[in-house]
Order: sequence, then structure tokens, then C-alpha cells
Amino acid sequence: MSKSLLADASLRLEKALKYVSISEDAIARLKHPKTSLSVSIPVRMDDGSLRIFQGHRVRYDDTRGPGKGGVRYHPNVNIDEVQSLAFWMTFKCALLDLPFGGAKGGITLNPKELSKQELERLSRGYIDAIADFIGPDVDILAPDVYTNDMIMGWMMDQYNIIQRKISPAVVTGKPLTMGGSKGRDTATGTGAFYVIHAMLSKFEQKPENTTIAVQGFGNAGSVVAELLYKAGYKIVAVSDSQGGIYAEKGLDIPSIKRHKEDNKNIKALYCQDSVCDIVEHQAVSNTELLNLKVDVLIPAALENQITKDNAAQIQAKYIFEVANGPISSEADEILEQKGIYVFPDILVNAGGVTVSYFEWVQNRSGLYWRLTEVNERLKERMVTEAEKVWVIAREFDVALRTAAYIHAIERLGEALDAKGTRDYYLKG
Ligand code: NAD
Repeated sequence: MSKSLLADASLRLEKALKYVSISEDAIARLKHPKTSLSVSIPVRMDDGSLRIFQGHRVRYDDTRGPGKGGVRYHPNVNIDEVQSLAFWMTFKCALLDLPFGGAKGGITLNPKELSKQELERLSRGYIDAIADFIGPDVDILAPDVYTNDMIMGWMMDQYNIIQRKISPAVVTGKPLTMGGSKGRDTATGTGAFYVIHAMLSKFEQKPENTTIAVQGFGNAGSVVAELLYKAGYKIVAVSDSQGGIYAEKGLDIPSIKRHKEDNKNIKALYCQDSVCDIVEHQAVSNTELLNLKVDVLIPAALENQITKDNAAQIQAKYIFEVANGPISSEADEILEQKGIYVFPDILVNAGGVTVSYFEWVQNRSGLYWRLTEVNERLKERMVTEAEKVWVIAREFDVALRTAAYIHAIERLGEALDAKGTRDYYLKG
């Protein structure tokens, strides 16, 4: 039987624990999710039939504040995946010093098979099922793979109907008109861009001499690709679930993005018409994209894309994990031996949750910020914490992922110990 995602994720924790001095009690607490809820959601389909969907919500840890984490709609969603995503959120929030714990949710389905009305009934049904488990001071939802601002709006509205009061801070990533924050829709990609640009400058890697491949051209991947393109980097390959395109001279990312948005069709990426004329290209599979000889590889799709089976073929010098968990722990070892720098997910993609935090703050204060203000605060936090991770990696001579966990565990350990009664009992 293959190892569970959570067991694999926990190996990263084990590695970092060697370098921190937190109590055994705190370590024991960090190894287990605090609460896991699985629900059945009955949905009336457009043809009159009833379909039951499986949903989950996991709060991994809430020592530093209410749970915080996205909701994923995907056929592969299962409780193990949701627990691992909640685990990563716990460390990500601590790493960015946000006053939140880690949580995550998901529903097992292929959202492309549902009508908009069915999706709305499902999203509202999910909130009906988990309403007692969430709240602005308990556990706050946000978008993730195949969920968006429209779905977050339905979820917030349903929560308000149940509570009989307006409570916008229960969900972040909402439409602007329902209390969303400016810059939340682009936050993950923008935050990743700040980290990538700052970290590549340490290697004196100039944008114009840097080739980049991006796996996954969704919310996070397309934004980071466009910002890197605008900063002068050469994006030579992009892909989505259907496959990818490669052009040695570099792709025109804004045109590809526009074309995809206009067509609302994933296949529009594949140069079936006008985008083809922009630059000569060739089709690449997702596997081929990962193996390209580029300076920078950005996995921005799903977890477990680089495993022990393909890690040896990776040729990039630097990997920035925009997706959550795209590299297995076994692959990590292989990449480290090859001298590849891996900048971890809990740092690189933390822009989303950081602006979610800003949205929560704005909802609670009732004062809304300009986009420049949001992005300035985002940049300051992302670059500051990236620099700290960089320094820890050098200080302990460890991989950047281990350094990120060391930094996060220290904050979590302090909070857990501050709450604990261990010393009282031991001394008593
Ligand atoms: P999204 O649904 O907007 O985009 C996902 C993209 O990945 C789509 O283009 C899809 O076609 C593509 N894809 C799916 N399977 C693929 C495959 N096997 N190979 C290549 N491409 C594939 O989702 P997103 O919000 O951009 O999330 C992407 C990743 O970033 C996820 O791991 C998510 O957890 C992580 N993330 C997202 C946010 C956020 O705010 N959106 C925040 C933090 C982390």
C-alpha cells in the first residue's frame, strides 16, 4: 500500500524537529489533526434526481488562532488529502506569522460535470452540513482548486442565512461587492512572484537570462507566469490538465491568458487559432514539461507531481512550489542530491492566505484598503519571511524546506507551550 499523503507530509516535520527545542507535548500535538469532519451532502440535480456528495472539513491545529483554509472541489478529494492540506496550512500560517491555525475542506466531485445551479445547491448544502463547525472566530473558508469567488459568495450567504446575521469574515476570497479584498484573486501568484524574484537575485539570476516552465495555468499559475513575464523572465512552457506548450524563444503569456479567459475553454491554450501565431511552439505533455532543461520549474497544479519515479529526470536548477505538496518526500532527497534548490509550498504559495488574512481584518474593521496598500503589505511579509527562511537554511546548513519548517515550528511550539500546563504538572 502506498504511504498516505499525511504520513509523507509529517516526514518533513520529523526532519525539522531535530533542529528545534520545543517540548515533547507540543511535538505530540503537532502530529495529529485536531478535528476531522466528513459529511454527506444531498443535492437535487437539474433532472430531478438526488445525488449524495461526500464532503470534508479538517481543523488541524488552532493554537495560534481560528482555523484557516480553502475548500477544494476535485474528483480525488479524500480525507487523507484534506488532512494533509490542513497540516500544510498550519505551518504556512505560522511561517507567515498570521494569527490563524490550519484547516482545509473539500468535496469529491468533478465540478465540470455540474450545472451552475447544481454547483450552487451543492455549495450551500456543504455549508448547511458544516455550519456548526465554522465561523469567523472558529474556522474560516477560502477558495482552492476549482472553487472561486462566486462559490465563496454562495457559502458566505448560506452561513449568514443560517446565523440570521451578516458575518462576512467567515469566508475569504469573496466577490468585492460582498466584502472581498482587493488583490485576493491574484494574491497567491503575486506573493509567489515576490518570493521568486527576491530569491533568484541571491543567485544573481537575471530575468532576461532565466528560462521558466510553469505546470498548471489556473488562478495561481497564470498570475505568477504573467508577473514573471512582465518582469522580463522568459516563460518557455506552460500547461494545464490537458497538456502543455513549449517555445524556446519564450511564450507571450498575456496573450495566452487573454485567449483562455475569452474562450473559457482549456483547449484554447493549445494554439488552435490566434495564439498559434504569436510564437512558434510545440506541444508537450505534463511529464515532458517537468523534465525540460530550464532554470526554474514552477509546479502550480496539484500534489505529488514529482516523485521518486521522475525526480532523477528533473533538470531545473530551482523549483518554486506554487502548488501544495507537488514534491514527495522521497523526491525531495533525490532533488537535494542533485543540488536543486527547492523553495517550499508553505512559503512560496502563502500569498493567498496572507491576503485572506487581510480580507478578514478588513471585514472585521469595516475599513477597506486600496490595491497598492494590499500588495505593499503582501510584499513586505512575503519577502521578510523568505529572507528568514534563507538565513535559517544557511545557519543550520539544511534544505530550504527544512528551514521553513524550523521557522514555523518554533512559532507553533512557543504558542503550544504558552498554553500548556506541562511545567505546572512536572514541577507539582
Ligand atoms: P485552479 O483550479 O485555478 O488551477 C489549477 C490548474 O491546474 C488548472 O489550470 C488545471 O487545468 C491544472 N491542472 C490540473 N491537473 C493538472 C495536471 N495533472 N497537470 C498540469 N496541470 C493540471 O487552482 P489554483 O487555485 O491555481 O491552485 C493550484 C495549486 O495552488 C493547488 O495546489 C492549490 O492548493 C495551490 N494554492 C492555491 C491557492 C489559491 O489562492 N488559489 C493558494 C495556495 C495554494
